[in-house]
Order: sequence, then C-alpha cells, then structure tokens
Amino acid sequence: MADDQTRNAPPQAVSVDAPPQAVIFDTPPQAVIFDKDGTLVDFERTWSLPSVRAIRAAAHSPAAAAEAADALGLDLETGRFADDSLFLLGPNDACDDATRHLLDLVRYREVLDAESGRAVAPMPGAEALLDLLDGRGLPRAVMTNDSEAAAIRQLTRLGWLDRFDAVLGFDSGHGAKPDPSPVLAAAAALGVPAAACVMVGDTGHDIDAGRAAGMRTILIDPDRRYPGLAADIVVDDLDGIVAWLDS
Ligand SMILES: [Mg+2]
Repeated sequence: MADDQTRNAPPQAVSVDAPPQAVIFDTPPQAVIFDKDGTLVDFERTWSLPSVRAIRAAAHSPAAAAEAADALGLDLETGRFADDSLFLLGPNDACDDATRHLLDLVRYREVLDAESGRAVAPMPGAEALLDLLDGRGLPRAVMTNDSEAAAIRQLTRLGWLDRFDAVLGFDSGHGAKPDPSPVLAAAAALGVPAAACVMVGDTGHDIDAGRAAGMRTILIDPDRRYPGLAADIVVDDLDGIVAWLDS
C-alpha cells in the first residue's frame, strides 16, 4: 500500500543537483523522447535569421511582413522570438493559418526550410548526451511540433539522423503537443511503455504532453521561465541530464 501511495503521489519538481534517478524512477528510464527546438537544436541560431528572411521574402507588402512577424511572435528588427510566440509553441499549421493572408506560404516555407536547414545548430551538450545514451543502449525519439520532413532535414544536417530510432512531427499522423498522442506514438515506435520513458523538453507543451502520457519529464529551463510546471526535474542544460543519468 505504501508503495502504491508513493507511486501515485504527484511528482515533485526537484533540483538535479540532489536526487539520484531512483527518486524519479523505480528503475532507470528505458527510453528518451526529445523535443527538438530549444532542446536538441539551438532555437535562436536555427530559426531567428531564417525567419526574418523568409517573412521578408514572402510577405505581400512591408506592412504584411510586420503583421506576420507580430502574429508569429517575432521581432523583425532583432530576430528575437517572444517566449510565448506562436512560432515557438504552435505547430506549423497554426502558424500558417495565422499568416496565410499576409504571406505567400509556399515561398515562406521554401525560404524558411532552406535557410534553417543551413543554419541549424546543436545545443551544447547534445553530442555528449547522445554518446551516453548510445553507451547505455537506450532508444530515443524526436517528437517535434515542426514538420517531420524539416526535423529529418535538420537531424541529417547535424549528422544525427541515425542516432534516433524514430522522428515524429506534428504532421506524422498523431497530432501535436501538448496533446499526449504524439509522444505516446513515439513511445510505441520505440517499443517502450510510456511509464518507462522520460520526456525531455524546454516548454510547457513538452511537459504537459509527457505528463498526460504518463511519462516522467525533464524540463530544460536555464532562466526558470516556467516555475509553475510540474516537471519531475528541472535542469539548466543538456549537461544537467548527463549528470542526472550518471547519478
Ligand atoms: Mg522546444
């Protein structure tokens, strides 16, 4: 009974500095499901300048460019996205719906895909984490609200495509985060029960999807932008996950 009560207790957000894995898992995680942007891929370096160029190339007018950038949560002058920007949180089709009267969307996607495909940059610590997962034989997937094709293009550019066992986008047939369906589909693709998976992400959508799927969750939040999220652990960066897995 005590064990059941412990198992059913709500997770506590705890510092990675203190708890070993046993605090979070009865047994070590058997698979990892990653968000892409801001988690494995440096969001600003990958998307800021490409987005500015794509909007300017595809807008029907300068005023339309400004309105589209505003709808997406992008500052056209600085290239910075707001923390709650639609571009950051929404699936691509929601971004398209918000801007289709302002942009030539075919041209926008063409420029954005080409430019971001060239600009894509890894987050620090990603290689070390993938090496650790390789060493442990832990399967892993990417589930992103970006498109599956863009994710595959970026992972290929980074030389990582064969380091993931599954890649799912918002358009892979299972919906988008924060719905749990696509992360459950990722777990199914890996052949690992959801409860034995850990979901790693940098926004509330990732943590909400993972929790709703019955997974343990790790939030990467160096600036503590999401103090109210009930992630199982909060880390500053991917090195923090390596440290936790080694604990
Ligand atoms: Mg993200």
